[in-house]
Order: sequence, then structure tokens, then C-alpha cells
Amino acid sequence: MADKYDVIVIGSGPGGYVAAIRGAQQGLKVACIEGWQDDSGKQVLGGTCLNVGCIPSKALLEISHKYEEAKHGFDHQGLKVGKLDVDVAQMMSHKEKIVGNLTGGIAGLFKSNGVTSIQGWGRVLNSKQVEVTDAKGKTTTYSAENIIIATGSRPIEIPPAPLTDNKIVDSTGALEFDDVPKRLGVIGAGVIGLELGSVWSRLGSEVTILEAQESFLGTVDQTIAKDALKHFRKQGLDIKLKARVTKTEVKRNLVYVTYEDSDGKEQQFKCDRLIVAVGRTPNTEKLFSSDSGVDLDERGFVFVNDDCETNVPGVYAVGDVVRGPMLAHKASEEGIMVMDRIAGKATEVNYDCIPNVIYTHPELAWVGRTEEELKAEGEAYKVGTFTFAANGRAMAANAPEGLVKVIADEKTDRVLGVHIVGHQASELIAQGVIAMEFGSSAEDLALTCFAHPTLSESLHEAALGVDGMAIHKANRKRKKK
Ligand code: FAD
Ligand code: NAD
Repeated sequence: MADKYDVIVIGSGPGGYVAAIRGAQQGLKVACIEGWQDDSGKQVLGGTCLNVGCIPSKALLEISHKYEEAKHGFDHQGLKVGKLDVDVAQMMSHKEKIVGNLTGGIAGLFKSNGVTSIQGWGRVLNSKQVEVTDAKGKTTTYSAENIIIATGSRPIEIPPAPLTDNKIVDSTGALEFDDVPKRLGVIGAGVIGLELGSVWSRLGSEVTILEAQESFLGTVDQTIAKDALKHFRKQGLDIKLKARVTKTEVKRNLVYVTYEDSDGKEQQFKCDRLIVAVGRTPNTEKLFSSDSGVDLDERGFVFVNDDCETNVPGVYAVGDVVRGPMLAHKASEEGIMVMDRIAGKATEVNYDCIPNVIYTHPELAWVGRTEEELKAEGEAYKVGTFTFAANGRAMAANAPEGLVKVIADEKTDRVLGVHIVGHQASELIAQGVIAMEFGSSAEDLALTCFAHPTLSESLHEAALGVDGMAIHKANRKRKKK
């Protein structure tokens, strides 16, 4: 039996590594187990987020947006550029450098905080013990007062589109193309399909996205989703709704995709590469010994309560491996909350205030309730909107697309949701999150002074619009909902 720890964290993604650092800050003796290693056998810290998720995708989104702007958005602003080209190899090495810096940074943070990093795959045994198997198959058993499971998730595979080397790929493969595919197919118009579809579309691919659902981004406020769909289609993304893939075949270096269209008719298209982005599934296989006692839910997620406690006292789970949105910041919030509770500090995650962002252009960002949810629940609410087309800063930035929508409780005026489609929506949404976290009313936002000229003024105007008092638009007489 090896060392005993106050807390053993399994997984070093944003759920696990943040928890580990927080635990050490709280004076706990913490170890973090990670099995991922590179070709040289070196441990890879940072999980999906840093290595094959948030960070590399955002690097490619930033680069491709610059390219697209230079190619199509400069002329009418009086900027002339010479011949523009894409060097995919250089783009990828730039992305890898960013990833390397960040993952290396975690190793440094572990060291400076005194977190012990253990390389190998962990398995939860009974009596709060964890067995770790290293790359050579050697096992060591550690014991702890507490265990935090943060093993994350992986892409779902579907039978009609089995992955093949380089041709039919998941999100990880789509971050590693060595050239710009002439025609790109995507299955799933969710977050990954839209973000990675946008990357390659901007760089020159003709992109077709098949989405099984009839509504576009069905869980997003539909004012925002419908506006975004209009922009994406204008950009050239061929998004087909209610389109269900039935078969794929790789022939002569091309992928043939057969699908049933919205009229139930069989259709086919061919592409050079196909991305499968139909959701993710939790990493819980082989994670527990048969007598660990930890319950999973019917979809294979570790079953936890609001405090991320499993049914076994002292065993917790956070991040993608448990219910709720699969988001890096949600994972980190849960990791911090659990460590603080272990250290004896009463704290909780406010699940009503977790922002979501889709990093397309325009970006989508939202927090709180949608109008559709409130309508379905029969809640009385009021709405204010403001378009970026009437915002001076958005015009100056050549980004007049989109709008801000603020939803407030009809009686109390408390902000229930903020929904944005537009330039830098990812940054703007933090203001909505803070407002909601502090229980602000729409009037509180309306009475706040916003700097001019800023995109944030659209949030101000939307809040003023909740009571029909926006300054820079003609207010419609407000109807009671
Ligand atoms: P992970 O990050 O998946 O980390 C889990 C870690 O546990 C991995 O390193 C894994 O190797 C390790 N592990 C698994 N099993 C074991 C075991 N038995 N023993 C030891 N180690 C183990 N989210 C956002 O909020 N914003 C974004 O912009 C965003 N972009 C994304 C883009 C893409 C392409 C993808 C795929 C995801 C994106 N996400 C984004 C989602 C985000 O990456 C995840 O929500 C987040 O990484 C979840 O964190 P986690 O710590 O729960 O799990
Ligand atoms: P998703 O759930 O966002 O979207 C999957 C889409 O695929 C859905 O619209 C679904 O209806 C569709 N679909 C499912 N099966 C299909 C089929 N057989 N044919 C056609 N369409 C089908 O999942 P994702 O895009 O794979 O992303 C996975 C997770 O990663 C998400 O939950 C997200 O939270 C996270 N993520 C977040 C970000 C971000 O925060 N910006 C970025 C990328 C990923």
C-alpha cells in the first residue's frame, strides 16, 4: 500500500486539476491521477479542454476568423491585402504551441502548490482506495479520506458513421486536418459541429451539416438561435435540419453520406472528410471495481446530488462525468465546491448561473431561462431586446449582426435570463451572469452606467427595453405576457 492522501482526484481536466489546486490551497494533502500520455510516454495534463477541446478549437477559430475577415471583410473598410494563403501546418504548430504552454503550466501549478501528480489509469475500489495502473501494467493502490472522480467524457460514435483514419473523424480528428478539405460533411449541428464547421468553412471548405432535430439549437432561446441560423447560412454553412444519416461509405478517397431528408426522402452527398459531432458520453467504463458501491445513472454518468456527492460517503464526482452541461467552467466550479466542502467551507454551485457560449461568428452566449422555457412553465415575464445594428461600437467593429435579449420576471423585475448573439457575446455574457448571481433586477441594469461606445451598451438598452424605455430604438408598447 502506497501513501495515504486527504483527497485523491482522478483525472486532470478542468474539473480535476482545478479541484486539486484548490485542495492544496486549503491545506489538504492531494494527489491527482492522470493516465493520458503522449507518444514519448510523458504524462499529458489538462484533459479534453486543454488538449483536444476548448483551447485548440478556440485557437483555430481565432485564426480562421482573421483569415476570413482579411479575405472578405477588409475591402469595404478600405484595407487592401495582397495574396492571402493558409499554411495549415504552421497553423497547427501554432495551436500545438498554445496547448503545450498551457498543459506545461498545470505541471508547474501542481508543483508550486504541492499537488502530487501520479501517472496511470485509476480505478475506484471499495473503502476509498484507488488502484493505479501505469503504462507498463504495474499496479499500485493508494488510499484516501476522500476521492473525487473527474474522468470526463469522450465523443459518441454512431453505427452509420464509424470512424476511419483521417476520413470520418470525431472532434479530435477535426482539430488535426493536414489540409483544408474541399468538401466537408458534419453530422450534428450542435456546439462542436458549428464551431469546427465554421473553422473549415472560413478556410475554404464547402460545409454541409446534417442535424437530426427539426429545430436548430433547440435548447437555446429561439430568438437567438433563429437569428444565428440566418447568419450561418449566409456565411455558406449548408445546415440541413431533420436530416438523419443512415449510411456512410469511404470509396476512392471520398466519403459518401446517405441520409433521410426532412421529407423522408433518401439523399446522398460526397465529401472529402466527415466530422461526427453528435454529443459526448462519460468515461465511466472500467472505472469501478465490482464492489466499489458507486451508482451510475441510466446513461452511465456517475450519479450525484447537487453537492456532487455520490451514494458512497467521501466519494464525489464532478464535470463531464456527471449530469449537467458539459462545460469546462462548470467542471471547475464543481471541483472547487467539492474541495471547499471537504475543507469544511459551506459553499455551493449556482446551476442557474452557468453561462453557455458557442464561439462562432457571431457568437452565441446565454445564461438563465429561455423564453420558451418560461412560456412552457406558465411563468409571467417581460422582455427587452436591442440589436447590434443600432450600436455604434458594433458598427465601428464591422460587426452589426445580432442582438441582446434580457428576460425579467413580470412581477419582481428580477433578471431571469440574458441571451446574446453577436460579436464578443462570450465576453458580454459575464455581465449577465454577474447581474443574475447578485439577483439584479432589469431596473438595476438599466440604472447602471455603461461606457460609450461599447458593445455592452446593447445590454443596457435591452435592460431599459424591458420596461419600454430603450433610448436608441422605438419602443413598442409592452404587452403583458
Ligand atoms: P476532461 O477534460 O475530459 O478530463 C478528464 C481527464 O481524466 C482526461 O485527461 C482523462 O485522460 C482523464 N481520465 C479519464 N479516466 C481516467 C482514469 N481512469 N484514470 C486517470 N485519468 C483518467 N467547454 C467549454 O466550457 N468551453 C469551450 O469552448 C469548449 N470547447 C470544446 C471544444 C471541443 C472540441 C470539445 C471536445 C469540448 C469542448 N468543451 C468546451 C467541453 C470541455 O472540454 C469539457 O466540458 C471539459 O473538458 C470537462 O472537464 P472534465 O475535467 O470533466 O473532463
Ligand atoms: P451537442 O449535444 O452540442 O450537439 C450534438 C448535435 O448532434 C445535436 O444537435 C443532436 O441533435 C445532433 N445529433 C445527434 N445524433 C445525430 C444523428 N445521428 N444525426 C444527426 N444529428 C445528430 O454535442 P457536441 O457538439 O458533440 O458537443 C459535445 C459537448 O461538448 C457539448 O455538450 C458541449 O457542451 C461541449 N462543448 C462545448 C463547447 C463550448 O462551450 N463552446 C464547444 C464544444 C463542445
